[in-house]
Amino acid sequence: QLSTRLMRVAAHVPNDSVVADIGSDHAYLPCYLVLNGKARRAVAGEVVKGPYESARKQVKLEQLDDEITVRLASGLDAVLPEDGVTAVTIAGMGGPLIRSILDSGKQRLAGVERLILQPNVHAKAIREWAQTESWSIVEEEILKENDKIYEILVLEPANRITGLTQAEFLMGPQLMKEFTPVFQEKWQRECSQWKKIVKSMEATAETAEINEKKQELLEKIKLVEEVLHGEN
Ligand code: SAM
Repeated sequence: QLSTRLMRVAAHVPNDSVVADIGSDHAYLPCYLVLNGKARRAVAGEVVKGPYESARKQVKLEQLDDEITVRLASGLDAVLPEDGVTAVTIAGMGGPLIRSILDSGKQRLAGVERLILQPNVHAKAIREWAQTESWSIVEEEILKENDKIYEILVLEPANRITGLTQAEFLMGPQLMKEFTPVFQEKWQRECSQWKKIVKSMEATAETAEINEKKQELLEKIKLVEEVLHGEN
């Protein structure tokens, strides 16, 4: 059965989509989407041979060869114009990798109506990319599974871009508003992690580089604590 994380990614895929799942690994997500009638067709893209073979095996096992095409390709190279892809899912990678996949394949996003992205870390990289490339954040979700906390960002082509504040880039405009217990837990965890790093920096010899890094962390801690304590 699909993980809660991937189930939640699937929940943001519009009905009747043609989906490209990039970095699909076992192709569990596209199989689920087609089997549950959410996607008419899908492409599963994988850049690594092993996961590509697993994806092919899974698609065969589910007898979905007619609906799902598995391609060995890097990022959005897996998407061809004739696929008519309407939604792209990219899950289970770091935010910077997701951003670089989107950025290096942006000409292949023409006609795509929705991006459903699940960065494991550094969602900020995606929010920054969205702002520069005129995609708006239409939905955000945060969830916890097996003690790990995940964010999901849903983007659609924007008519009008509203600028985000520093805190919103980092923590997510909608997630900040919703202020769920999981959101608070995530940022408390991050803050205590950063504080530990600052402490360890204070115990080592000072260099300009360490000082700069420390300053950055202290600023982030201040920003996040202001949000957590309702001071913004
Ligand atoms: N999407 C699945 C999920 O969320 O459970 C699998 C996540 S797995 C941790 C990341 C997958 O992305 C790996 O199978 C890896 O080979 C693939 N990957 C990494 N970089 C990629 C790229 N540039 N293009 C396509 N696949 C990539």
